[in-house]
Amino acid sequence: MRPRFALLALLALLAVVTTAWAQAPRAARPAAPVLVKVGRLIDGRSDAPQAGVGILIDGDRIKAVGPLAQVQGQAQGARVIDLSQMAVLPGLIDTHTHLLLQGDPTAESYNEQLLYESTPYRAILAARNARIALEHGFTAIRDLETEGAMYADVDVKRAVDRGEIPGPRIFAATRAMAPTGMYPIVSDNWELELPHGVQPVDGVEGARLAVRQQVAHGADWIKFYADRRYYFTPDSVLHSWVNFTDDEARAIVDEAHRLGRKVAAHAIGSDGIAAALRAGVNTIEHGDGMTDSLLDVLLAKGVYWVPTVTVAYYVAGPRGGAWAPMVEHQHRAFTRGVKKGVRIVLGTDVGGFPWTEINQAKEFEYYVQYGMTPMQAIKSGTSLAAELLGQRDLGVVAAGAYADLVAVAGDPMKDVSELSRVRFVMKGGVTYVSP
Ligand SMILES: [Zn+2]
Repeated sequence: MRPRFALLALLALLAVVTTAWAQAPRAARPAAPVLVKVGRLIDGRSDAPQAGVGILIDGDRIKAVGPLAQVQGQAQGARVIDLSQMAVLPGLIDTHTHLLLQGDPTAESYNEQLLYESTPYRAILAARNARIALEHGFTAIRDLETEGAMYADVDVKRAVDRGEIPGPRIFAATRAMAPTGMYPIVSDNWELELPHGVQPVDGVEGARLAVRQQVAHGADWIKFYADRRYYFTPDSVLHSWVNFTDDEARAIVDEAHRLGRKVAAHAIGSDGIAAALRAGVNTIEHGDGMTDSLLDVLLAKGVYWVPTVTVAYYVAGPRGGAWAPMVEHQHRAFTRGVKKGVRIVLGTDVGGFPWTEINQAKEFEYYVQYGMTPMQAIKSGTSLAAELLGQRDLGVVAAGAYADLVAVAGDPMKDVSELSRVRFVMKGGVTYVSP
């Protein structure tokens, strides 16, 4: 080959390689700037929608939001995305998910996954689940433990962050914690060494060590199981058996906070909720047994309540026992909580129900049924959820925030189930679903 010809061939090869690289998922970078023409904007913060808005996006962030004519003036040469017939909202946020779980209405369905599925297989399904979440408009999730799949949530998060797979921003809790013998899988056959659904943790020193181990392996949040064995007394109070001693629970929270991590507590019965609040947790998960006095403690301490109503309905039938009346108890407590002004944040427990069967956005409908206005429900799954996560750049459509947007064809202020039919999804300035 003559030198000049070789040089041309090399240049051609480089061009092919560069083009291929540019199209690879890892190079999924936004071509800036972008002007989004918005019919009605629900920005996650304001109490009313605004009409005729322009959003200017530069890179992965929003540069300007305002009246269309005004923003258009700053948007020369911008690529236009026309959503002028749609309602645009911030990307949705689900603060209670399980990427590594495919529904566990019964003990059998749970054991099946932990005993007969390898962690790599479960991680493949988790990657699929991450895509489902994003395509349903959830651009951020707090994934509250892997149910025996160790630190695989951190791997899924890494793959999303590197652009290898599509998915939401993931705030990962890794393994969660419960004391020995107080979380599945348990068996009468003491000769079997079975997988654990959580990291078994005992004693104050054990609690501190477990927090350090989980943080070392990438935990953004720490989760522990405050209670188990739920039952009603004749006075209609939902009780439970408390898992950790107060000293152990306080050690978990103290060590997590020392390492800059917040703590989520699974707490269903009133005893478990009270114990978690004594320990100083940041969020109560499920909270079915919430009472008026516990709601007051939530308010006083600024603790968030993540009720996960969708999963409550899903498991009530198959599980039987106290699970069905628990749904009704939670409904009443939720309505009182809204009236009191408790910070109720959207979380579904998806993974407790299959990702492939129910859209997480169903949760918005329950909140409206239970007493929130559509706007309150939307804020619970956008700006308030971002506040829970401590992420000021998420959950709002505002200058400086990440360009995470969804759009729906109808009016979610009239029918919040519109959020189950998103027509457009953008995360970090990259469009994943187009109208
Ligand atoms: Zn859960």
